[in-house]
Amino acid sequence: MLELKHIKKYFYVGDSVTKALDDVSVSFRPKEFVAILGPSGSGKTTMLNGIGGLDIYDSGDLIIKGKSTKDFSEADWDAYRNNSVGFIFQSYNIIGHLSILDNVEMGMTLSGVPNNEKKEKAIKALERVGLGPHMNKKPNQLSGGQMQRVAIARAIANDPEILLCDEPTGALDTETSVQIMELIKELSQERLVIMVTHNPALAKEYADRIINFADGKIQDDSNPYSEDTDKDNFELKKTKMTFWTALKLSYTNIKTKKARTFLTAFASSIGIISIAIVLALSSGFQKQIDKTQSNTLAQFPITISQIASNQTAPKNNDKKLTKAKKTKVTAKLSQADKATHINKITKKYMNYIDNINPELSKTVTYTYSTGMNILSENNGKIKTATFSNTDTSKGANSASAMSSAMATSTGIGGSVYPSGKSGQAFLKKHYKVVSGSMPASANDIVLIVDSDNSTNINALKNIGLTVKDGQKLDFNKLVGKEFKVVNNNDYYKKLPTGTFLPNSADSKLYDNSSNKTLKISGILRVKSKSSENILASGIAYSDQLTKNIINDNKNSDIVAAQKGSSTNVLTGANVEDATTKATLINYLGGSTTPSSIMIYPNNFKNKDKILKYLDKYNNGKKKADKIVYTDMAGSVSNLTGGLMDAITYVLVAFAGISLVTSMIMISIITYTSVLERTKEIGILKALGARKKDITRVFDAETTILGVASGVLGVVIAYLATIPINAVLKSMTDLTNVAQLNPIHAIILIVVSTVLTVLGGHIPARMAAKKDAATALRSE
Ligand code: ADP
Repeated sequence: MLELKHIKKYFYVGDSVTKALDDVSVSFRPKEFVAILGPSGSGKTTMLNGIGGLDIYDSGDLIIKGKSTKDFSEADWDAYRNNSVGFIFQSYNIIGHLSILDNVEMGMTLSGVPNNEKKEKAIKALERVGLGPHMNKKPNQLSGGQMQRVAIARAIANDPEILLCDEPTGALDTETSVQIMELIKELSQERLVIMVTHNPALAKEYADRIINFADGKIQDDSNPYSEDTDKDNFELKKTKMTFWTALKLSYTNIKTKKARTFLTAFASSIGIISIAIVLALSSGFQKQIDKTQSNTLAQFPITISQIASNQTAPKNNDKKLTKAKKTKVTAKLSQADKATHINKITKKYMNYIDNINPELSKTVTYTYSTGMNILSENNGKIKTATFSNTDTSKGANSASAMSSAMATSTGIGGSVYPSGKSGQAFLKKHYKVVSGSMPASANDIVLIVDSDNSTNINALKNIGLTVKDGQKLDFNKLVGKEFKVVNNNDYYKKLPTGTFLPNSADSKLYDNSSNKTLKISGILRVKSKSSENILASGIAYSDQLTKNIINDNKNSDIVAAQKGSSTNVLTGANVEDATTKATLINYLGGSTTPSSIMIYPNNFKNKDKILKYLDKYNNGKKKADKIVYTDMAGSVSNLTGGLMDAITYVLVAFAGISLVTSMIMISIITYTSVLERTKEIGILKALGARKKDITRVFDAETTILGVASGVLGVVIAYLATIPINAVLKSMTDLTNVAQLNPIHAIILIVVSTVLTVLGGHIPARMAAKKDAATALRSE
């Protein structure tokens, strides 16, 4: 059954050598009760551990059922201990934090015996050793004799072929010793029992065979045996602890020291708490910023003007005075000129804009630099008027009005809002009717006033009113006021010289039946201060009005004349270049190309989608054909967003330091736990646990600790947001700034777990490396 051949085991401590086993050769029968007697320190335990595979011999061979163990791997030894050997120790070695049943089941748990079978076998073993009635007690509620019975039950539960007992009655009184010996004697009927004892009386009474040991050598053997079979009929079933078993072991262990575990989890959760709060605050602030942005900044439209500033213009660093430049003057384009990009707004592009998904933007405004031939009537006096809010009083004729209009970026005067349903919604969103009503048709125009009901004085002067700075006007003086828009053909007369001149602004022109009648339908006030820049204060009208006027005028005589002439048909001056000519034609209403397009996105996210859509148009186009847009809101939000990110990174970095501190702490705590549980490691190894399984037990413990500290951290951080928000509200009037994002919370719990497991893994590996025999000897 078992054969030791010239087994040697030496211990080297410092310079001294202890020959614990010095060339031991002996064989055992499959069924017998062998007692090994000898003085303390003679090597008995070392031999027993050697037979049980807890302490591997230095040289010689141990042959089990005809199989040499010389080439056994660690896993083979683990499996051998688990399958074939049962250990009984003097100090019982019961795992205190597990139930009696769990203790007895542990060996089978390690070898993966199914639950039902495992439980059945464990109960049978406990009944066999006479513990049936005490099965539900906890280990610390048992007497010494009962503890030893549990140990015996554990050793025989999986029905091993070899039972190894190391002074099993050493800690028991005489009466109990006799009972235990009887039990072991009974067990030896079915298997090989090897018992180490220094009590010759016990050995004589119970054992079939007595081997005397001294100085690591067998002195005499009462019933020697020599194995004659060489046949190898040895089989092993490998052991493996599931992570679930490891978790259970760690959980029951942790349960015995609740307060300590809680404090540990709390201390190591501080890092998580700080990071969670930083994230909660920063995402809260970001949300606030986003809200403010979509309220205010989103009102800045994406603008596509005919003349755009190309922000990507290359920098000119070449300022050196080279040889070629030294003696000459170099003509050079200015930076501003270089940055200027002419957008070719074509019909195709207009269609492209029309195809913007209406879910992204319902509001698109087209501005045309078209002049309008407007006449106003005040107290019977007819005058030309404009809807511009710049000072045009200094130039009486329309040519100067035109140049002033061209000089202002707002186009030909007045603000333009989009037409149709979307225009109505747009006005309703930002403006409140102070008097009159919202515009109902393209011929209805409105007067925009600021939040204090003030409006631009030039706008009033330009429609023919005589007003002084600070003067107050009744609403009804403005609401309902009418204007006439005159067709080019009626407005201009052709002189024999070929140039055109406006007819005199009189009642005949005013009352012309083909005139359009415009009416101020209402006075509109901005709803919030942040909306003040959407439409400038003064007269505003729909882009449909301009479109209608262009339609009326695009085939007029003056437009035709201007198109075919190289001079300004109003002044007779020479037209220098194509751009100037185009501007003139535009002004006279001869072009349907808008001077600028403004797109108002629904919100920030959709704005990005629109920008992507606009960028797509430029794909693969020549530089000159690209369309450059201006995204004012974007430049502002990029700035604030970037700043917020930077602050968050710095704060998270600081909070990260506390996380690292917690990780180091976890390492220390796991290390102490390893020291505390050395005995348990020995027991598990004796039962056949692999190194990996031991690592797993401690990894499981740190996993529990990591999850606990993560969850605790997140919960505390969440609770902390309540007072933080209260303080912030009283200080800044912002509500619910700190908001812990659930995704962040989950990530933090995962991070906490991973870091804790990492921190505890090194001590766990140390635990696994512990020598089983040494671990069992420790107290
Ligand atoms: P017994 O069981 O007969 O009391 P042991 O087998 O425990 O004897 O010990 C035999 C000898 O080996 C003793 O001298 C003991 O000090 C020594 N010994 C046992 N284990 C170790 C060890 N891990 N390191 C050093 N010496 C050891």
